[in-house]
Amino acid sequence: MAKDYYDTLGVARTATREEIKKAYKKLAKQYHPDLNKDDPGAERKFKEVNEAAAVLGDEEKRRNYDSLGHDAFTRSSKGGGQGFSGFDSSGFAADMDFGDIFESFFGGSDLFGTRRSRSRKGQDLRYDLTVSLREAAFGAKKRFTLRKQSACPSCGGSGGEKVETCSTCHGTGHVRQTRQTPFGYFQTTGACPDCEGHGTVILEECRKCHGAGRVEQQKEIEVDIPAGVESGMRLRVPGEGEPAGRGSQPGDLYLFLTVASDEFFEREGNDVRLEVPISFFQAVFGDEIEVPTLDGKAKLKIPAGTQSGTLFRLRGKGLGHLNAGGRGDQFVKAQIVTPKRLTRQQEQQLKALAEEFGATPDKGFFAKLKEHFR
Ligand SMILES: [Zn+2]
Ligand SMILES: [Zn+2]
Repeated sequence: MAKDYYDTLGVARTATREEIKKAYKKLAKQYHPDLNKDDPGAERKFKEVNEAAAVLGDEEKRRNYDSLGHDAFTRSSKGGGQGFSGFDSSGFAADMDFGDIFESFFGGSDLFGTRRSRSRKGQDLRYDLTVSLREAAFGAKKRFTLRKQSACPSCGGSGGEKVETCSTCHGTGHVRQTRQTPFGYFQTTGACPDCEGHGTVILEECRKCHGAGRVEQQKEIEVDIPAGVESGMRLRVPGEGEPAGRGSQPGDLYLFLTVASDEFFEREGNDVRLEVPISFFQAVFGDEIEVPTLDGKAKLKIPAGTQSGTLFRLRGKGLGHLNAGGRGDQFVKAQIVTPKRLTRQQEQQLKALAEEFGATPDKGFFAKLKEHFR
């Protein structure tokens, strides 16, 4: 399945170095394996793109490629081995500022800031976690069990009862080879053939995981949820994802948080709101009532003459601030409840009272209204 390098990069045969560089950077990002974990074809494309750029990005190699043609060039330069990746360091990598990307390809740090080495990083996991408003207010320890791949407890993830460092690659997992070709020296880096890139050789296979280095099991996870979290936030639990195989680093676990709604409180940032019913008489004469808070019951003074809808503030009774000290406030809205059923005697007494007060609650307001419509 020989492919023309120009087609691979999507550039014309007359493309300048600049155009090749641009096309390469774009494609390398697009197919970077770290960004395409779900697409098994991406890694192959990434390799093809790198291979093409390695040749077209180097003037001498490009000239040879152009004159020999794809098949003849690749036969002579690659020797049929797989895991192509290299060329001498004085070549285009340094020149064209692709070092970052190529290092990633060969197992150094990559351009996205994550490490990509022989000990591949495993899969990240997602877990949806719901916390109560109180847990969000004060922070909480949460425990839950996850069924996931974990490093085998019997062999510690190495895959063997007896394991030794690979003598071919000295534990690095990759080998470099320098080959002389008609076009000069080529240095290739590939997975070590003796340990398949693991860096270790199993002398006696682990009986529990049969050499895989990981087993599926229930794992109890305990996390500290900080105070002040909100729905939609993600918490990363490093290293609680799944390992990719023996000797690999596990991925991370991401908790997707939901804060459940509460039967009493409505949340507004770090404040909470609550409505309490008070009687007409408590509003008129004043009273001391008990209100729920996130901490438990608290006393609230209702002053005489309180109007319906008055807000009272209880300082520091809200939710804790995320990554900071202090707490929000609680607002209590007093809602005056109008009595619905009255005895005949109560009705007569209230009617008498109403006559004494006059028909309207606020003479000033209605006087103004009258003025307005005149
Ligand atoms: Zn094992
Ligand atoms: Zn090896």
